[in-house]
Amino acid sequence: MAKPTPLVAGNWKMNGLNTALAEIEALSGLLGGKDTPACDVMICPPATLLSRLADAADGSSIAVGGQDCHQNVSGAHTGDISAQMLKDAGASAVIVGHSERRADHGESDKTVHDKAVAAWDAGLKAIICVGETESQRDAGETIQVVEGQLAGSIPEGATADNMVVAYEPVWAIGTGRTPTADDVAAVHAAMRAALEARFGAETGGSVALLYGGSVKPGNAVELMGVANVNGALVGGASLKAADFDGIIDAYRG
Ligand code: PEP
Repeated sequence: MAKPTPLVAGNWKMNGLNTALAEIEALSGLLGGKDTPACDVMICPPATLLSRLADAADGSSIAVGGQDCHQNVSGAHTGDISAQMLKDAGASAVIVGHSERRADHGESDKTVHDKAVAAWDAGLKAIICVGETESQRDAGETIQVVEGQLAGSIPEGATADNMVVAYEPVWAIGTGRTPTADDVAAVHAAMRAALEARFGAETGGSVALLYGGSVKPGNAVELMGVANVNGALVGGASLKAADFDGIIDAYRG
């Protein structure tokens, strides 16, 4: 059975002006000057920087992704961006269902599902995010919530090539707090079992499952060492090349 290919992806969120391109050059230099990590590396900048960042990353091992896409290909959707446009700008993947989109824009599992289909139609990998809120965790509902989000957000036809799943507990995002390694292991084992049950052992066993939420250089080795964790989705610590590379270090000898 094929093993998941780990991915360390940076989500810059609504951060980054022209000057942030220097971070890509710095990251490219760090990646080129050290041992090749046993993971793929991706940066998801704001859409305004996508094409310039794709140009800056050209020839390096850094892939570029979008942070969200509209579910339609084109049309009267002021301010929105289609998956095809992201692809056209140089993206190879797009994050869908990030908890900030679910909370700030009322995105349902059905919306996330439709965005993932749009990503696939455009030839992009979908990075599908799930995760419980703090009150859901306190109520003992974590596994149930995550399984429900997986069932509702992942379309039929998912493969290890067209999808990555990111488990991001909402209460751990940007807070400096993380679940224990045992807690992460329990959720990732449940996600793996759910994917295997739905898509079969080969596909379900080879989809990369990322952990996201306050990953830093100081905790990356422990979190990336948890069973069924195949990389990280990184917010704050992806903004500085040296910090992000410190997380990638978890995948170097
Ligand atoms: C995120 O929002 O995807 C994230 C993981 O953020 P942070 O690393 O800042 O917690």
